[in-house]
Amino acid sequence: MAHAEIIAVGSELLTPQFLDTNSLFITEHLNNLGVEVVAKEVIGDDRDRLTGAILVAVNRCEVVVVSGGLGPTEDDVTRDAAATALQRKLVLSLEQESILVHRFRQINRPMAPNNIRQAYLIEGAIALANPNGTAPGQFVPTRRGALILLPGPPRELRPMMVNEVVPRLRPMLPQQVIKVRTFRITGIGESDLDALIAPVYTKYTNPTTTILCSPGDLAVHLRACGKSEHEACALLREVGNRIAELVGDRIYSEKADEPLEAVVGCLLRKRRATVATAESCTGGMIASRLTDRGGSSDYFVAGLVTYTDAHKRELLGVKQDLIAKHTAVSEPVAAAMAECAVARTGATYGVSSTGYAGPQGGTPHDPVGTVYLGIAGPGGTRVSRIRHGGDRNRIRTLATQSALDLLRRRLRE
Ligand code: AMP
Ligand code: MG
Repeated sequence: MAHAEIIAVGSELLTPQFLDTNSLFITEHLNNLGVEVVAKEVIGDDRDRLTGAILVAVNRCEVVVVSGGLGPTEDDVTRDAAATALQRKLVLSLEQESILVHRFRQINRPMAPNNIRQAYLIEGAIALANPNGTAPGQFVPTRRGALILLPGPPRELRPMMVNEVVPRLRPMLPQQVIKVRTFRITGIGESDLDALIAPVYTKYTNPTTTILCSPGDLAVHLRACGKSEHEACALLREVGNRIAELVGDRIYSEKADEPLEAVVGCLLRKRRATVATAESCTGGMIASRLTDRGGSSDYFVAGLVTYTDAHKRELLGVKQDLIAKHTAVSEPVAAAMAECAVARTGATYGVSSTGYAGPQGGTPHDPVGTVYLGIAGPGGTRVSRIRHGGDRNRIRTLATQSALDLLRRRLRE
């Protein structure tokens, strides 16, 4: 399989203010051609460093893409550095010169003398048209493949990558297809998940497997490479299906961009059901997630944040003796809150949270990090007690995720 390296050039990309986003776009299109990006680098506007980096890259990869540094000024060093690295001359292209002159005439601006630098091409290079700017890109055949120079501004780079680079690279490359399969998972920790699926995925180098994690939310990515779409998909099926079997219903989606609340929303819509929330320690976070998506008014009816005992009584209707007997952080109160959410709003399901998010509070029986989550609705009322360590933010985030997952599971029954 062909390998690629991307070099982003620009001193601004080494400051805290600017991020190299071009390489993400370039990677996506290289992947679609079956080319795997194996290294990325950001280099300031420094001729010698860039020369060294290009030299290393062209010697180890078939495809090297450099973005930025093709402007007309002294700090735009990419053309020079690339020519030096390849030990080739820069040659004035009369065609590019006339394109430049024409372009400046078109925009009615005088052409400063240093602009002519942009009409110089590396020996053997093909100029890549730039309809959105003055600097042409360059496609330079090399011993191993190609060195490609692209302008930095995304609105110039993107069409050039799609219209000029991809069609030139495709015929040079072996027939390769990369396919991706993603599992979004909740209800298991990262190390437990890894222990569960490592015996499967470590047996394969193709597809490659990566696990991504944020609190309460994991993703497993499989990337398979094959000579055809059929072959790549077959690999994904072989490994993916075994992983799916092990992880089971903790997989809530196979769509990379589908968060848990979207899955819950789809299930609610499918069942023509609605939901209301009665939250204490999550302070509205469950309602916030449930209303994150456009169209959530189809299924979300209301959310009550009742923090004090008095408001649990007055707004929700939780009985005073229940709170007095069990305290507000308890299974019976969580159950009553979820039921009251249904009773007060007429929603099909009620979701509740009550717990100790810390840092103060808690009891010996229910220390900080304990949260009771209730779901009321068809199938009765059930309460889950969860306990997590960490700071307040983590506890509330995990409780919110668990509440959504409990609702998802209930909706699948
Ligand atoms: P240059 O071609 O180096 O003159 O880049 C011109 C402008 O393009 C910069 O000021 C940035 O705003 C933008 N740019 C350059 N490189 C990148 C990059 N890797 N990712 C996103 N934007 C970039
Ligand atoms: Mg620059």
